[in-house]
Amino acid sequence: MSSTPQNPPPTREIEVRGLHKSFGDNEVLRGIDLEVGSGEVVCVIGPSGSGKSTLLRCVNLLEEPTRGQVFVGGTEVTHPDVDIDAVRRRIGMVFQQFNLFPHLSVTDNLTLPQRRVLGRDKAAAAKAAAENLRRVGLSEKADAYPASLSGGQQQRVAIARALAMGPQVMLFDEPTSALDPELVGDVLAVMRMLADEGMTMMVVTHEMSFAREVADRVVFMDGGVVVEQGDPARVIGNPAHERTRHFLSRLL
Ligand code: ADP
Ligand code: MG
Repeated sequence: MSSTPQNPPPTREIEVRGLHKSFGDNEVLRGIDLEVGSGEVVCVIGPSGSGKSTLLRCVNLLEEPTRGQVFVGGTEVTHPDVDIDAVRRRIGMVFQQFNLFPHLSVTDNLTLPQRRVLGRDKAAAAKAAAENLRRVGLSEKADAYPASLSGGQQQRVAIARALAMGPQVMLFDEPTSALDPELVGDVLAVMRMLADEGMTMMVVTHEMSFAREVADRVVFMDGGVVVEQGDPARVIGNPAHERTRHFLSRLL
């Protein structure tokens, strides 16, 4: 990555070095090197099966890398002595499926992980829940149950739940792919707000207009490698590699 004097390289919040991941004989990640600076938004694009989800899952250790190193906030999370729970507390993750507890109210969905994982008392958890529901524009749904919400609202609750944990970085794995098209915009608006607030984000998405407008950098993956990365307008508008061109042409 190049840098200019006006724009010094930011602190690295996420750093991936020589990352390999195999499932049996299937080598899914074949040597990934990637950095995400503090406050940077990196969108990861690429065909289905290229290893995007596996990459995100290796960053927060939902998958154990076969080889290579991952650093989050300067801590090597792949080190054998690392406290995995402490690492995960610093990383918020939002999935395609919202994974809310159906039998709990929206507020209880937000307070439960804070109490269980962070050991917060009831009042502190409720305060963070209310604050973060407000951030995603869903204060009025505090007492609702997930089934009464639209998919877009459920995903915003899932984002608020992750934010209530006070993460240093947020990982999004196709957060709008399960949504009806008319509900996508509200979720992307929340993500855009987070980006504007300076949250460090890694976002796997097929939403090219979001990537173009919000990302600081776009990474194109195919076959378990980073084929190219760079300025969103350049990668999406004028890709250097045939594989990137082919992928983008099929999205349109
Ligand atoms: P993407 O998110 O880009 O669609 P994935 O990271 O989900 O790609 O998957 C990449 C490859 O890894 C696929 O071939 C998939 O079948 C395989 N894979 C992912 N997770 C597992 C797993 N837990 N066990 C075995 N194979 C897996
Ligand atoms: Mg995936």
